[in-house]
Amino acid sequence: RAKSSGAKQYSFYSSDMNARGDELLSLEADLRRALSNDEFHLEYQPQVDLTSGSIIGAEALIRWVHPAHGLISPVDFVPMLEKTGLIDTVGEWVMHQACEDCRAWHAAGFAQLRVSVNVSALQFNDVELLGKVRRAIEEEALPAELLELELTENIVMRDPQGATEILQALHSMGVRIAVDDFGTGYSSMAYLKTFPIDVLKIDQTFMRGVEIGDSSDAAIVEASVLFARKLGLEVVAEGVETRAQLDFLRDCGCHLAQGFFMSRPLPQAKLLALLRTHPSW
Ligand code: C2E
Ligand code: MG
Ligand code: MG
Ligand code: MG
Repeated sequence: RAKSSGAKQYSFYSSDMNARGDELLSLEADLRRALSNDEFHLEYQPQVDLTSGSIIGAEALIRWVHPAHGLISPVDFVPMLEKTGLIDTVGEWVMHQACEDCRAWHAAGFAQLRVSVNVSALQFNDVELLGKVRRAIEEEALPAELLELELTENIVMRDPQGATEILQALHSMGVRIAVDDFGTGYSSMAYLKTFPIDVLKIDQTFMRGVEIGDSSDAAIVEASVLFARKLGLEVVAEGVETRAQLDFLRDCGCHLAQGFFMSRPLPQAKLLALLRTHPSW
């Protein structure tokens, strides 16, 4: 992974800022300082239950506001965190912050809302992952069932045997497991059947196809929903931007949806404000 994305990792500096070489090199130093400088924060994108129309949880998404360059996308800096090994500390911070914020939703009267946290390949392969997850839920006093970890197909398929053991250990802790970006990586039906997973998140590229009337993408979404339901998994559609997409998903029997149509990712205070309006879709 590191090799193939090597050129892309610096792209936001070179294309957006026409930077010189020494600026490229300063990125790593910037990232090292970012955590202690409070430059990271989390935003939360609501997940909506399509039966009730209400918010049942939210996905935590990391944001980096660089003091000079402004907001930088996680698509650009998460690979850099992985390359430098900083993902260990930053990932742990994300886990704790997400659990703490989820507890705050409960304290504000929104009981039982769950939080999803993205886990990168290196985090998943960290031998201390289980301990870190356990510490986060214990120290933040979050019921384990309300924490969900999102992993891509490729992460678990790289070493299916080893992944199964880690997933089982997480499961026995009570933590839920979601397969993120489903349909875009290498999955195997045989493994999806045996992995202890709870949720499939259908990748947003398929929702884009639904919107422009691509019948293959619509068929993939419909089949994925059926597939998940038949396997007893919960299914989430990502990237819902229009009413038509939402109606389509309801007709398909999809359980949950996430996307700009309902809400963009929001900082904690704005999420709480939205919850207080008791929105329904
Ligand atoms: P992801 O986990 O698949 O997250 C979904 C991405 O789609 C988010 O981008 C979200 O803002 C965006 N999105 C949500 N709804 C819509 C929509 O309706 N339309 C469109 N066009 N986009 C939508 P974001 O926040 O830029 O995150 C990108 C990726 O970065 C995430 O993909 C995830 O893989 C990674 N990431 C984000 N936060 C973290 C983190 O805390 N840790 C790790 N390891 N990775 C993270
Ligand atoms: Mg995700
Ligand atoms: Mg995704
Ligand atoms: Mg993604």
